[in-house]
Amino acid sequence: MKDTLITKIIDNIADIRREVSRFKEKKAKIGFVPTMGALHIGHESLIKQAKKECDIVIVSIFVNSIQFGPAEDFDKYPRQLESDREICSKLGVEIIFAPAQEEMYPHSGNSLEESFTMVVPPLTYQDKLCGKSRKDHFNGVATVVLKLFNIVTPDNAYFGKKDAQQLLIIKKMLKDLNLPVQIVDCPAIREPDGLACSSRNKYLTEESRKKALSISKALKKAEELHNSGLSSVSSIISRSGELLHPDLEIEYFEAYNADTLMPVEKMGENVLVAIAVKIDGIRLIDNLII
Ligand code: AMP
Repeated sequence: MKDTLITKIIDNIADIRREVSRFKEKKAKIGFVPTMGALHIGHESLIKQAKKECDIVIVSIFVNSIQFGPAEDFDKYPRQLESDREICSKLGVEIIFAPAQEEMYPHSGNSLEESFTMVVPPLTYQDKLCGKSRKDHFNGVATVVLKLFNIVTPDNAYFGKKDAQQLLIIKKMLKDLNLPVQIVDCPAIREPDGLACSSRNKYLTEESRKKALSISKALKKAEELHNSGLSSVSSIISRSGELLHPDLEIEYFEAYNADTLMPVEKMGENVLVAIAVKIDGIRLIDNLII
């Protein structure tokens, strides 16, 4: 019988650094997939891409407290390390880095800004879309990603386009802070019915899930309207928004330049059409680049 790899779980910084330097001595190319766990086929696609391009793949699983607001679902966020390990083993991931909270934020008992150096992405990348309602969210994301990059020191890091604003902010941080990591963008993966995969989907009831399908339908409609020649962004957004289920609490349904996040009035190349909604208290995001 063929031996199956069991992914090793490392929970502290000293041990992961030791493993990484051993790989580096052998000149192995290291691929890194940062996640918050509750792995689904979206995460799997990132891991598969990393396996194709790298000798060693490290997946981090860390529910990053500092990217959640006080009224958000940090405590409720799904944690399922053992089943995540099974997925990683099946995909041939060498290491899961799953640090404890104290390992990553030993000083976080006090106010974060007072006790901790944070990465603050530029305002123009943060003052819209998810950044508008999730104050400090992207400071938390950029800070943890920089810490993870400094700990894991990967050659390549894999991120999903499902979180388009996050991906742009990470690329901007890399450029501005001269980090020697190659970012690989991976396509957003959807369920067969069109719903974008998310760790939060498991909280949807059958009824809420049906309502949620209107999100990808509205995005598709925006694409169709563009393809049929309509160029006014506001007309495209309002006409495709009609497809959204009336029970959805729409946080935003907007379009920006997909590279700079600057506002756009007319469709052109590379427009990010993005949406965030709450359905029965569960927040979902999705987007298309048109
Ligand atoms: P998360 O665990 O939600 O923080 O996501 C970890 C990584 O997986 C991020 O780079 C996400 O963009 C990516 N990801 C999450 N959902 C999807 C999806 N449906 N398709 C592709 N990538 C995804």
